[in-house]
This record gives sequence, structure tokens and C-alpha cells, in this order.
Amino acid sequence: MHLVVVDPGHGGKDPGAVRGKAKEAALVRLISFKLMDKLYREGKVKARTSFDLCGKDILNDTWPAKQRRIELSEHSKKVEQIDYIFSIHLNSSTIPSDSGLIVCYNKNRNDAEMFYQKVIGHLESIGIDLRGNRKLPLVKRPDLAILKASLSRILMDGLGSQNAFEEVAKKIDTFMKELSKKADTDIPNLIKSTLFPASLPNAQILYDIENHLNLALGESYETMLVSGSNKKQISALLVEVGFISNPTDLKVITEKPTAIAEAIGEGIYKVVLR
Ligand SMILES: [Zn+2]
Repeated sequence: MHLVVVDPGHGGKDPGAVRGKAKEAALVRLISFKLMDKLYREGKVKARTSFDLCGKDILNDTWPAKQRRIELSEHSKKVEQIDYIFSIHLNSSTIPSDSGLIVCYNKNRNDAEMFYQKVIGHLESIGIDLRGNRKLPLVKRPDLAILKASLSRILMDGLGSQNAFEEVAKKIDTFMKELSKKADTDIPNLIKSTLFPASLPNAQILYDIENHLNLALGESYETMLVSGSNKKQISALLVEVGFISNPTDLKVITEKPTAIAEAIGEGIYKVVLR
């Protein structure tokens, strides 16, 4: 049976997108609980949350999202192969009319399209419209797939010389291990202490790397980090259920979490059980 991981976005100190009293982290947890209830009950796939897979308490969640990705990746490498990760998020925009469900994928557009069609179709069959105003509901996040590579590239860009790059490249594994050990890591500091010998960096380089790496560990990269340290890339889909910034989407999300969870569950079956 395929191992499917459900990963609710954000959490801990990071509420995700916020609109009035509505918080993305809380809403996607609610949807994820209901989704897990369905998946457990029906027993068609082996489903775990990112939290319970790594021995964390989802209800007492102070576990940073970027940390989850790293631990999931380690788990998949060393304990059991994760086949699919489905991350649940809400979108946000400064344009109030932006709306609708979006699916991001790391490698398989076909999976993303099947998932999208099934989820949207299921919702429509019970009178819920989350199509919104999206023309292109599928988003590829391709170059984000491999943390090591993007890290190396960032470092190479910043360091400017092949020798300096090779010196740093040797230390990336140590860096990744340190990163996975620490709960709330101060990444710029960890880079300085782990990757850079005193002789190497100047302030400008560190500044660049800091910026890139913050970006690289930000939300858009969340799902992709998992794939990063695995040779066999895990298939990851990230669903942005709707826009917290759009009143119509938000109404559906807050009033119909069970229906949304049901639809996402059907989408998961469509992809995993084909
Ligand atoms: Zn999010």
C-alpha cells in the first residue's frame, strides 16, 4: 500500500496567511484532520500526517514547517519510503478578486491535473465552486526541487570561485545534519558557523546567501525540500484550497471544511490508486 503523507502548512509561530480572525494554519489543520479521518476510515491508502510520522504532536504544534520537510526527508530515506506528500495551504493576494483552488506540483503535471479535476469536480457535484478566477490552476515549481543543488548554486553564485565553492560544498552534508537537529535554527548563523571558514566570507556574500536561503526555506519551497535530499524524488502536490483574501473563497473554506476534506481525499485516491 502506498504511503501518503498529509502535511498541513505552517504552524507553531507561523500562522501562515491571516485575514481578520481567519488564520491559514488553523484552517488547514481543520481540513487536514477531517481529511485524515476520511483516509483512516476508508483504509484505501496508508495515510499519516507529517506530524505523527515524525513523532510530533500536531495539537501542540511548535514545530517549524521547514524542520518538518527535513525530518520527512530523513524519514523517507532511512525508515520507509514516502510515496506522496499532499500539503494543504490557503492562498493570499493583495487583489481581492484573486480566487480559486490551485495545485502546485514538483514533478508530475499529470498527477496535478488529475488531482485538480477530481477535487474541483467533486466539489461541484455537491454545489461548491472553488474554480475562482484562475486561468491556470496548475503551477510547477521546478528548480526548487532539490535543496542541495539550489544551496550549492546559491553558494557558488555567492562565492565566485570554484575553489571556494568546493571548500563549502564539502561541508553541506554537515550543514544539513545540523539544520535537521535544531528546532528553530538561526540559518544565517548556522551558515556562518558551519559552512564558512573564517577566511572565506565577506559581509556581502553572507547577505546574498542569507536572502536566497531565506527564500529557499520559505513557504514556496516547503514541499520541495522533502524531495531534495532523496535520490528518488517524492511526488509532492501542494493544494492552495482557496484565497483567504477573497471573501467568497473564505466563506466556503470556513463553512465547508468537511466537504473540502472529502474532495481532497477523492483527489488523493485518484492520483495514488490509479
Ligand atoms: Zn501557506
